[in-house]
Amino acid sequence: MDKLRVLAADVGGTNIRAAWVDDLGNMGDERRIQADLSRDDVGEADLIRILADFFQAYLDDIPGIQAIGLGFPGFFLGDSGVLAASPNLPQLLDVALAEQLSNMLSLPVLVQNDALCAALGEQRFGAAKGEANLLHITLGTGVGGGLILHHQAYTGESGMAMEFGHLRVQTGVSARRCGCGGLGCVEAYASSTAIQAIYAELKGETLTTKVIYQRACEGDAVARRVFEEAGASLGQAIAEAVKLLDIHTLTISGGLLGAWDILHPALMQALNQHLISPLKGKVKVLPSTLNDAAGILGAAAMALAECD
Ligand SMILES: [Zn+2]
Repeated sequence: MDKLRVLAADVGGTNIRAAWVDDLGNMGDERRIQADLSRDDVGEADLIRILADFFQAYLDDIPGIQAIGLGFPGFFLGDSGVLAASPNLPQLLDVALAEQLSNMLSLPVLVQNDALCAALGEQRFGAAKGEANLLHITLGTGVGGGLILHHQAYTGESGMAMEFGHLRVQTGVSARRCGCGGLGCVEAYASSTAIQAIYAELKGETLTTKVIYQRACEGDAVARRVFEEAGASLGQAIAEAVKLLDIHTLTISGGLLGAWDILHPALMQALNQHLISPLKGKVKVLPSTLNDAAGILGAAAMALAECD
């Protein structure tokens, strides 16, 4: 029982998921609770109480936990564990999440942006194991990004680095409106929300991304084109990011990975088309090997590093 184990958790839109993780990346005793944290009546004290109660119950049942890592949808200042702001919880600003939880639970608590956690997970346990530099992209209802430079998570000066989903890939009157209010963001083309909306506009049917993908496989040319254009938009945005960062390894996780066989060729073609010559052919874009565990394993990686 001397084995190093940490508690890792991932806060989603409607639920919180937790499991223990050891230093080899093994996971166990996974638990979930329903918690709609996007309600506007959730205050700072409510948030802390929901998280602390969930973790305390876990710690009471599972012995030997030495630290806690948490992935949270919001902007964090460096590795301070201070939630600067969260799109899901606009009423909360500058919440010392890690410090308050640590005081209540009497354990080290590390908190970071969820997409950045996914990047840390891929780097320690997944498709980018051992890479010093990594740009990780999450493709779900939105498009997120996490950046690791020289083995360090990079958050920017206000916690808002790698708003990859809002890189602009289209301009002009036909550019699509993004949830952020901007026009032509990659998220307006390459998120599952966008794929469903674009398909509905073209075919008059609102379907899940999974069904649209099945249709693409069965020969629906419109469905295929929607995924190819999503891939091309991603490739274009990745090219812009690579021009800035000169990073050669990217990983992608999230629900849209199910359409990888259509997304990836379109993505690579657009990427190499938009890259400057010396970088063409040098950039690899890999599917996550951790899938929906990337975030939780990255949260664990932060907590494990604290114990090393
Ligand atoms: Zn946007």
